[in-house]
Amino acid sequence: MPELPEVETIVRDIRPALTGRRIVSARLEHDDVLRDVSRRGLLAGLRGRRVKRVFRRAKHAVIETDTRRLVIQPGMTGSLLVLDRAPTRRERDYAVLLARLDDDRLLLFHDVRRFGTLLWLDARGWEAYSSAIGPEPLDAGFTPAALFAILQRSRAAVKKVLMDQGALAGVGNIYAQEALFAAGIDPSKPAEQVARPAASKLHRQLRRILAAAIASEGTTVRDYRTGTGKPGSFQFELLVYEREGEPCVRCGTALTGTHAIDARITVFCHHCQR
Ligand SMILES: [Zn+2]
Repeated sequence: MPELPEVETIVRDIRPALTGRRIVSARLEHDDVLRDVSRRGLLAGLRGRRVKRVFRRAKHAVIETDTRRLVIQPGMTGSLLVLDRAPTRRERDYAVLLARLDDDRLLLFHDVRRFGTLLWLDARGWEAYSSAIGPEPLDAGFTPAALFAILQRSRAAVKKVLMDQGALAGVGNIYAQEALFAAGIDPSKPAEQVARPAASKLHRQLRRILAAAIASEGTTVRDYRTGTGKPGSFQFELLVYEREGEPCVRCGTALTGTHAIDARITVFCHHCQR
């Protein structure tokens, strides 16, 4: 699933073409992505709306209009584009939502396997949605002490806590593994046992890695594309993700893969990460 850097990249790419535009018409090809809104409610709601702001919250792109907010979670195979041409055959085949703008461009959300979701939230719905998500790790107000406090609240594996959207926004399987490697912390260590200096190091490394991944326009290991349809390039800078058995870049020990933390494989160096 696209994480914070990927969704941030998409949002930055589509923002200039969307901000200030009016949506003249919208078409929905599949209902199964809708959450708490009907097809008719969404399409009637979108028609005539002006886009005020485009931003990211956690792993979701948010298109704020003069009435409600359209929240798009792209999912593993989803992408968001603004086209100044007709969609290709493939784009049409997998289109979920198409919205025609008043300058004749087309906002396209397409999703091959439709793991993505769409929400259409009023002010109250937005408040409920956003307040259920933890702080943004790149916000200026997110301090080392704030991360330490989050870790102190849980006995679960530190990797799980980093990925828990209610605790912290936007971090998933890729960046949790990379940040824990950079900070020298065993991903299975109970969060509450991460000492204050280690939590500070994790805070610094997590922010550094997320910022570097945004600068590289995200990580493309399979389906993810930017808001202009290109792959990202942070996959060339990953040091542990999907590298089980390869030598650790720091000490040369073969990296270990474990399924003991969550349903997915977690790769770490048992020598460097304690
Ligand atoms: Zn190592």
